[in-house]
Amino acid sequence: MVHGKGKVFLVGAGPGDPQLLTVKASELLKTAKVVVYDRLVSKEILKLIPKAAEKIYVGKRTGKHVVVQEKITELLVELALAGKDVVRLKGGDPFVFGRGGEEAEALAENKIKFEVVPGVTSAIAAPMYAGIPLTHRDYAASVAIVTGHRAGNAEHAIDWAKLASSVDTVAILMGVESLEAIAAKLVEGGLDPNVPVAIIEQGTSKRQRTVIGKIGTIAKEAEAKKVHPPAVIVIGEVVNLGRKLAWFKKPPR
Ligand code: SAH
Repeated sequence: MVHGKGKVFLVGAGPGDPQLLTVKASELLKTAKVVVYDRLVSKEILKLIPKAAEKIYVGKRTGKHVVVQEKITELLVELALAGKDVVRLKGGDPFVFGRGGEEAEALAENKIKFEVVPGVTSAIAAPMYAGIPLTHRDYAASVAIVTGHRAGNAEHAIDWAKLASSVDTVAILMGVESLEAIAAKLVEGGLDPNVPVAIIEQGTSKRQRTVIGKIGTIAKEAEAKKVHPPAVIVIGEVVNLGRKLAWFKKPPR
């Protein structure tokens, strides 16, 4: 017998540290029966899910997730139609490049009830843990959060030069792989090659690492230092504050 449709909670897991979960996310996880989660959700957070709960991993790699994403939305709809309440757990904030908007659309189209639980986005938290405020009264009155994923996509190309001349701070997600192309476009577009850049790898975790450089040379430096995703790239004068304000002491592993 069907007892009506379940409800889907699109939940942000934050950037990694379980203490950065919201109270609401933490309560939903501890009482969850079904959790559908992504690659970027940390192990420590997954430990909060009850053993008896059904855990479904739908991890996906950048660039290859078009078909997979459709399957994920189908799965959410199916589970809810089967009467199950589902926690759909995503890294960071569900609506910041998390495709949470698309999942919410599919749920709305299928008349399935849902709630969205905001999460601490890595776009802000990773720089913060490296001592970099994205805005500052003296250096930055505006910030743009941009995907680096489209760097090689002519159809949906981002106008990097325009972006750099219209906002003070640029925070790039999914940009490690196309950093060279992005940096070149910015400099060609007129950005001073000396503008400071920080790359924060695995922000808020025990493995957090920050590489600081200049837009003119950052791509080479990132390669030499073997920077890997997930990382947030911050471009702008605020990066200089990181030298003074870095505060995060990594707990022993
Ligand atoms: N919804 C997520 C972003 C998903 S896109 C959020 O709000 O944080 C995935 C990208 O997020 C990664 O490629 C990387 O750029 C960034 N990211 C996620 N977690 C990160 C972390 N702990 N440290 C640095 N960057 C991170």
